[in-house]
Amino acid sequence: MKGIIFPGDGTVALSEFPEPEPGPGEALVKIRASGMCGSDLHFVHGTFPVGADVIQGHEPCGDVLAVGPGVPEGQVKPGDRVMVHHYYGCGYCRRCREGWPQMCETAPAATMAVHVHGGHAPLAVIPASSLLPMPDGLSYRAGAAIGCGTGTAWGALKRAGGVEDTVTVVFGQGPVGLSATMFAAALGATVIAVDVDDARLAGAAGFGAALTVNSRSESLVDAVSGFTGGRLADVVIDTSGRAGEDALSVLGTFGRAVFVGLPGEVSFTTQAIYKKQWTLMTSWTMSTVEQARCADFVVAHDLPVDALYSHEWSVDQAVEAYAWFEKQDAGKGVFVFD
Ligand SMILES: [Zn+2]
Ligand SMILES: [Zn+2]
Repeated sequence: MKGIIFPGDGTVALSEFPEPEPGPGEALVKIRASGMCGSDLHFVHGTFPVGADVIQGHEPCGDVLAVGPGVPEGQVKPGDRVMVHHYYGCGYCRRCREGWPQMCETAPAATMAVHVHGGHAPLAVIPASSLLPMPDGLSYRAGAAIGCGTGTAWGALKRAGGVEDTVTVVFGQGPVGLSATMFAAALGATVIAVDVDDARLAGAAGFGAALTVNSRSESLVDAVSGFTGGRLADVVIDTSGRAGEDALSVLGTFGRAVFVGLPGEVSFTTQAIYKKQWTLMTSWTMSTVEQARCADFVVAHDLPVDALYSHEWSVDQAVEAYAWFEKQDAGKGVFVFD
């Protein structure tokens, strides 16, 4: 079968791989959708010198075709529609038991498309314990997005704590930021969406933003201050990795800020801000439990996760697809399979 690889020199290529078979504790998954995630570009360009020989794609979603020995009967079975939590830990340490295998304490977690094959191919072998059943009514494309980008937005809001009845400012309106805007609005926040691109901001209004601010052409502080009667924001989520001081400039007293985007640089002196009583956090994707909750929430609230996607590709179109992605226009791409 053909799978997409990133040699690490800025190119994208198709490579031939044998059809995989599930070993002990593993499931063979027929991939239906495999999302393109912003972090892919770091690997295309070799920013992290790993993963050059594995199939890419860490947002896959599909159907179980077969399971290997030792998969408990009834847990995962052929025909199940599944999402993937794309980090594989030991399964036994505290962090793994809490649903955070990416922070496994006893074994370095294997990350899909970095250390082990990912989903940009028709088939993948995945530990059965890393599969999450998909709720009825969730599309494969939505399940793929929830596997990283959209789930990351959900995870950041969960890190922030309750956002209902808050004014929440979301920086960056790419796929993660739009998802944060969508979830925060659905959770009861009044959302101010910030970006430097008017097309992205137009999208944010459709995902529930009450106010959009182009921070390149208007004063961010004036806009947020005017909207909040001078109180500024209760919650700030930075998905852009570039908000830095801007994020803090609109954070009101007792404000909570969550920094999700990379590379990100934030500096402050305690003396300047201690009277503001702030809580500043980072957030890294989401736990297995929150990924499942995120999917349930999307279905329960009939949220338009599918509308994040602007482009659909076949694996054969990998080069064209990533050439489009490099432009970082609005929208999100996904590889789909029959
Ligand atoms: Zn562990
Ligand atoms: Zn990702």
